[in-house]
Parts: sequence; structure tokens; C-alpha cells
Amino acid sequence: MGVLFESRPPRLIDVPHSSARPRMGVLFESRPREQTFASFPVQQKRTRKGALVATWPGQKDDSPRGLTAHVDTLGAMVKEIKNNGRLKLTKIGGFAWNTVEGEGVTIFTRQGRTLRGSLLLAKASGHVHGSQVNEIKREDEAMEVRIDERTTSAEETRALGVEVGDFVAFDPRVEVNAGFVRSRHLDDKACVACIAAAFKALKDANLQPAQTTTALISNYEEVGHGAASGFPVGLTELLSVDMAAVGEGQTSDEFHASLCVKDSGGPYHHGLSSRLRDLADREGIAYKVDIYPYYGSDGEAFWRAGGDVAVALIGPGVDASHNYERTHTEALEATTRWILAYLLAD
Ligand SMILES: [Zn+2]
Repeated sequence: MGVLFESRPPRLIDVPHSSARPRMGVLFESRPREQTFASFPVQQKRTRKGALVATWPGQKDDSPRGLTAHVDTLGAMVKEIKNNGRLKLTKIGGFAWNTVEGEGVTIFTRQGRTLRGSLLLAKASGHVHGSQVNEIKREDEAMEVRIDERTTSAEETRALGVEVGDFVAFDPRVEVNAGFVRSRHLDDKACVACIAAAFKALKDANLQPAQTTTALISNYEEVGHGAASGFPVGLTELLSVDMAAVGEGQTSDEFHASLCVKDSGGPYHHGLSSRLRDLADREGIAYKVDIYPYYGSDGEAFWRAGGDVAVALIGPGVDASHNYERTHTEALEATTRWILAYLLAD
């Protein structure tokens, strides 16, 4: 309660690639935007799956490189309209219900209408359900969306235009305080912003990449197949840019970029990882080397789809990942500088 709100209202910012209205869920920005890259000297195309592919011709083209980050985020879909007019959800991506319990949501109907509501335990009231509020296991059956409309039956909810299959987005609740960026969905919109910032720095300096470089801003990463397709033939390297896992036993923190050398999918490419460490050492970039125990990336999605390239993974340290996340601008800056160093490296 209160200290923050007594002193001043929280400062909301519009994180790059998030909705123009920060209160709204960002799931529906899961199609990357062309205009972000339109000011760079890149060729853009859209894959049929919905990813954005931006290729910047390099000084050389004998060893084309790829960069990837994803704009899709954790979210949900209407699974069932309950007899009480509330909604049962199915998750999109891997997260625990307790991480979004009490969060505001936006429901996107097929007719293009948006409805507001909140995700709650079905037995939410402590005055009615007593200790059950504490004890009930948070699983699909136990959770429901309370829509901010007058509905107490499935028929009334359907009359609002809500149907099974409608997407439901959780509010990101963005705040920036003392350099900390606190928001849901930093995974992985923060890294899309880092790639865009590195491209902007390169353009502002009138430079071009050492090698032709293709940035693939993917969707479908959180469900495992984001960057599986969409890169041009002939790619030799892929730098996946995604959040670093911060927590007990991890080297990563919110003030550094991390190089992940191994995750659930096994080790990344040792040669490319070593080159990235050399680059960071040379450029004085603040970084950590880490291993993420429960993690997969779009680099691995590309590998699994048959991509024959060297893959490495870097990204800013994000605390409480797949929960109410937080990072610091120092980690975002370190990640951006590392991408830039890679773009310019021979
Ligand atoms: Zn994720």
C-alpha cells in the first residue's frame, strides 16, 4: 500500500513495441510493426506466419548474419464461457496462474470490440471462502475472468460478443523508477527495443553492418516455434536476443547483459559465444556468462527446424521472469552496445 502513490502517481511510459496505451495488454502487438524499422536502410518483408524480416546490406556479404527477438508475449485465450457469465481461460506460453492473479485483462472479441476485466481465483473473496483463498491450487479450473460488464449468465456474455477462442491479454503495468523498468512482457519486447536501438545508433553514425544482417522479429516464440522459419538462405550465424534469467544461483543480474552458454536445449555454439565474449571484453561491455535451467530460445527453434548456423544468445538480466518482470536501463544499454559491436565486427 501507498508509499509510491502518496508521493506521486506512477510514471507510465510507452515501451517500444508495446501498445500505445500502456494499460492495454500487449499480446495484440504480437505482430511486429514495420514503421519501427522503416527509418533504417533495410529491406523489409513479412512472413506468412507474421514475423517481420528486415535485412540491412553489409560491407560484405560472404557470411550473412541473423539477429532475432520476439514480440509475442505470455497471454491467454477464452477456453469456456461459464454458466455464471465469467470466463475460463487456457494459457498461451509457460507461466503460473499465481503470477497473473488479480491482474487487469483485455478481451479481444472477433468483432473487434475490447472488453476489460480481471483474472481472479473463482473463489476469490476471503469473507466468503475463508482459508480456501489461500489453499486452493492455482490451476485452469480454479481461475476465472470477471468481465467489467453486467453479465451473470453465459447467454449475456455471448451477447457481448465474447466467444471461445478470443484472445485475452494481461496488463503489462509499466513503471520506470530510478532506472528500473518494471513491466510484464519485458520478455522479449525489451530485446526488440535493444535491436531497434542498435540499428538506430548504426544509422545515426552513418555506418553499415560488417556483414549483411537480417533481423527477424518473431511471433510464436513463447510457444516454441517463433524463428523456426523466415531467415534467408545462406545465413551463417544467428544471435538470439532474449532475456537473461535472474535469481538464486544465477550469475545474471539487472545491471548486466548476459551470454547464455547453455539452457534446456543444451549448449550454444562455443565459437560464436567466445567471439562475443572477446567483443564485450574489448568494448568494455558489462556482461555475465550464465546457464538458464528452464529456458529455450528462438535460436534453438531455428536449430531444431534444421538451421545450419552458429547460434548464440545474449540479453538483459530480467528479474522475476514470466512474472511481474523488472530490469534496469544499464542492462538494456549493455545489450544494445553488444548488438552494435556484433553488427560492426569483422
Ligand atoms: Zn518468455
